[in-house]
Amino acid sequence: MLPITLITLTLITLTIPSSSSQSTADVCIIGSGISGSSVAHFLRQYSPTPISQIRIFERHTVVGGRMATVTIAGETFEAGGTILHPKNYHALNFTHMLGLKVNGPSASESSMSLGIWDGDKFLFKTIDFDSKNQIVQYFVSLANSIRMLFRYGVSLLKMNNFVEVTVDNFLKYYESKESRPVFSNVEDMLKWADLYNLTTQTLEEELVGLKFSPLLIEELITVITRINYGQSVKISGLAGAVSLAGSGGDLWSVEGGNWQMAAGLINRSDVTLHLQEEISSVTNAGGFYELNSTNGNSYTCQITVVATPLDELDIQFTPEIYIPERKLQHTYTTFVRGLLNPAYFGLNAVSDLPELVGTIESSELPFTCVSVLKEHAANDFTYKLFSRQSLTDALLDQIFSIRNETIRINWGAYPHYHAPEEFAPFILDDKHLYYVNAFENAASTIETGAVAAENIARLILSRLSGQQPSRSYGLKSSTSDSNLQHPEL
Ligand SMILES: Cc1cc2nc3c(=O)[nH]c(=O)nc-3n(C[C@H](O)[C@H](O)[C@H](O)COP(=O)(O)OP(=O)(O)OC[C@H]3O[C@@H](n4cnc5c(N)ncnc54)[C@H](O)[C@@H]3O)c2cc1C
Repeated sequence: MLPITLITLTLITLTIPSSSSQSTADVCIIGSGISGSSVAHFLRQYSPTPISQIRIFERHTVVGGRMATVTIAGETFEAGGTILHPKNYHALNFTHMLGLKVNGPSASESSMSLGIWDGDKFLFKTIDFDSKNQIVQYFVSLANSIRMLFRYGVSLLKMNNFVEVTVDNFLKYYESKESRPVFSNVEDMLKWADLYNLTTQTLEEELVGLKFSPLLIEELITVITRINYGQSVKISGLAGAVSLAGSGGDLWSVEGGNWQMAAGLINRSDVTLHLQEEISSVTNAGGFYELNSTNGNSYTCQITVVATPLDELDIQFTPEIYIPERKLQHTYTTFVRGLLNPAYFGLNAVSDLPELVGTIESSELPFTCVSVLKEHAANDFTYKLFSRQSLTDALLDQIFSIRNETIRINWGAYPHYHAPEEFAPFILDDKHLYYVNAFENAASTIETGAVAAENIARLILSRLSGQQPSRSYGLKSSTSDSNLQHPEL
């Protein structure tokens, strides 16, 4: 065995292109989404002695990953990660630091009418009264709140409280670095912020325990989890709380597309970006990692960061790595420019249709939601549909009376959530192979990607400083594993 290994290694060394053999890339990051770009940003921000080189590998032609836009008849819309919470502080900071513009919810979005569809009839509809007058808008929204209270009772008020407590706990991740530990595993990171218990029960179990009304859980809350995660209330309590937080007010996005955050962070972090470079193998070659791409290129680096979910990828790791099996929830996003068919919903006029049609859990329903993105003219709208399966042309022709343009995207969108959740490690070997997206089992959002990335950047620097004790990063340890201790400096 040994001689063969040596020969293989020699051959690999000889085949490394001159560009990569001349200088060793200190950090290689696989994935240019918010996680990968944030790792690069925080490494540059926190490292007192700059890391000599950061490479980011992206298999596609553009950066941003699940933050992407589509263009329909000249108009740009978010296709993946869309809404940001007002307390998503990393995303807010990135947006301001990069000189990007915040897109607040438009008046029409904030007063978007909602209908809950069971496949046969609307179980609940909010009043839709189109007016630019703010006083009128206020009274319409008050009337809608009262209607909701009548249907769902005081549990509705408990929903806000449940979300607020979770959001407040999450805010601990923005505390100063001096008081905030570096986490070497997801469990410790969640326990420290009092969020871990929420991953041990389903949202449904959590809410039943809090005495929420069954109707509220079956209808409104199910509608929200189906919109945000394409899944039922059987997702974990934490993913559920994050999902509910994404249905509140003052939500925002980046004008022109959220992907610009990733692009901006990469631009200002002195990164060598390799587009259309798909990494197919990562080998621990003793003291450094060798990354091979499907284009036949090899790169070496002291540290490798995986910033993409590994679940559907075919990257060969040597030695092998072990992570819990995780399924991704596929969300089919269909954009249609045209006009909904009111008859499909048992109505006479398009104007009777709510701008957001949410759905309850039923195997009969072909989509999880459909919403108006833009009204171009009386009979000309752009809509977005989410579904668990691809929507056929035949089905779309029943749902729409006019269909001028259709764009379909099949996203391996986020984890299929369970309770209790099982987490992959942040450190995939006992060396310098890191996995940001282990945190996605807690919740998958743009902000959680950035929060996990910030911790990974600190973890890298902390562990590096452990090898070079003279350097101080001022980081504290939270690990109980003696091999993975971070020095208290
Ligand atoms: C339809 C949809 C709606 C969503 N809505 C919201 C929302 O409203 N708000 C919100 O906050 N979040 C939302 N999310 C979730 C959010 O978009 C993601 O959690 C987040 O963008 C993930 O970022 P990431 O960097 O971790 O992963 P990704 O964005 O997936 O980035 C990983 C990158 O790695 C690349 N890659 C993979 N394998 C390789 C390889 N072998 N070599 C090189 N490159 C590779 C991929 O091409 C990709 O660009 C939504 C997601 C989807 C799909």
